[in-house]
Amino acid sequence: MGKQRRFQIWKLPIHTQILVAMVLGALFGLAFPVNRQAIIVKTPVEEAEIAAWQEAEIWMPAQDSILFRTSSRSELIRFFRKLSFEQRQQIVLRFRVPTDGQREYHPVVALKVPSSIAADLKPIGTLFLNLLKMIAIPLVLGTLIVGAASLGDLRKVARIGTKTIGFYLVTTAVAITIGLVVANVMEPGKTLSPELSRQLRETFREDVVAKVQQKADFNVLDFFVNIVPTNPFEAIASGDMLNIVFFAVFFGLVLTALPKEKAQPMIHFFDSLGTAMIKMVEVVMLIAPFGVFALIAAVVASFGFDILQTLIWYVLAVVLGLLLHAVVFYPLLLKTLARFPIRKFFKEVERAQLLAFSTSSSAATLPVSMRVAERLGIPSSIYSFVLPLGATINMDGTALYQGIAAVFIAQVYGIPLDLSAQLTIVFIATMASIGTAPVPGVGIIMLIIVLQSVGIPEEGIALILGVDRILDMLRTTLNVTGDLTASVVIAASEKGLAKAA
Ligand code: ASP
Repeated sequence: MGKQRRFQIWKLPIHTQILVAMVLGALFGLAFPVNRQAIIVKTPVEEAEIAAWQEAEIWMPAQDSILFRTSSRSELIRFFRKLSFEQRQQIVLRFRVPTDGQREYHPVVALKVPSSIAADLKPIGTLFLNLLKMIAIPLVLGTLIVGAASLGDLRKVARIGTKTIGFYLVTTAVAITIGLVVANVMEPGKTLSPELSRQLRETFREDVVAKVQQKADFNVLDFFVNIVPTNPFEAIASGDMLNIVFFAVFFGLVLTALPKEKAQPMIHFFDSLGTAMIKMVEVVMLIAPFGVFALIAAVVASFGFDILQTLIWYVLAVVLGLLLHAVVFYPLLLKTLARFPIRKFFKEVERAQLLAFSTSSSAATLPVSMRVAERLGIPSSIYSFVLPLGATINMDGTALYQGIAAVFIAQVYGIPLDLSAQLTIVFIATMASIGTAPVPGVGIIMLIIVLQSVGIPEEGIALILGVDRILDMLRTTLNVTGDLTASVVIAASEKGLAKAA
């Protein structure tokens, strides 16, 4: 016992540990930032880092030379990567550096961006993320099949399903409305000067092209048709959560219609699977502080705070909207619909929130959200359905952010948005947030659909790309909080909370 104590370095509760790791990670990232201007050139004889360059010129035989500015560093690297081996042998790469004139390289073997210790920690964060994602699918499958089997009654399942989806749609629409009101009152787009707007558009031009290409054509009808998997094993293998939810609920319900001796072994099997996965979450959470430290350090190191200052009003508008939704709307729902103690809710949910913030992924946070739901006293038959569904389709934070971003971009471009345009945003952003995959950075891709629906130029996302990572962290936190709020409310409405709350 005494021996064990000596090794207990971490006596703080796990969420405090994660919080400390987050702060330390941010400081570490600030101390070792990635130089976002420098470039590393590798030739057969040397590897040189060019720190401050103004222009780079690529000269190729029998062609006009191509000029790149510092702001288009990624364009330069992408251009180089597309060159064939022979072309790389022939090119001359010339940099204009203010301090010591010109530097010339020929031939060029590789071009890359410099890293920093903080950014190099990223694999530790990715490892932690992978561990969580590894657990998510078997956990959902196990708990949901047992959950559906214990509900048994088809009418009860249909009732909970309808309530959950209804709740998700209403809270999402409220989130966008809050976003629109905040954006219309604060008018963050009017604070951006035309000069800054031009600079941002130039810097992120290439990234916009990449995002627009990624844009999935979201079709509502297809979305519903595709909820039914043609092959459940394929759905499990590819981690398609909606498909898995459908199959697991169906499977669990059918089990209740079988003779007991046939159904029991299956139920026991999936029950053990779910319980083992929950145990796995606990084990993985032991390394959460290290994973979170690495994730935050890498983000802060590669994230330019200068852009944050440029877009401060936009960022503040999103933060204010998210806060209003989290500290006014959810508590209101918890109090009125569930009579659930707000303090207890936020104390337990904090763990999932911290993880959502540091991973920017509702899917990766799902195993921890399920653990939190258990601690809140929600029956597994309810949370095992409400949470995976919520992680996939309920994104209040993303929807709220899409509302603000759309108005912000319209304001910068001077496009007036009348009431009907804003109502269109409410509808389309609700659909777009449903279609947003619960992984980092998808919200901004789905934003393109919202922009197109009201005629705002999609290139406008260039204005906000630079701060999207930090806002992704914040909106994911709200997404996860929304799912947990729903679990409490649905459980209370089914009288499932009485014992534990
Ligand atoms: N990262 C978000 C989530 O996982 C989705 C997004 O808005 O990009 O919930």
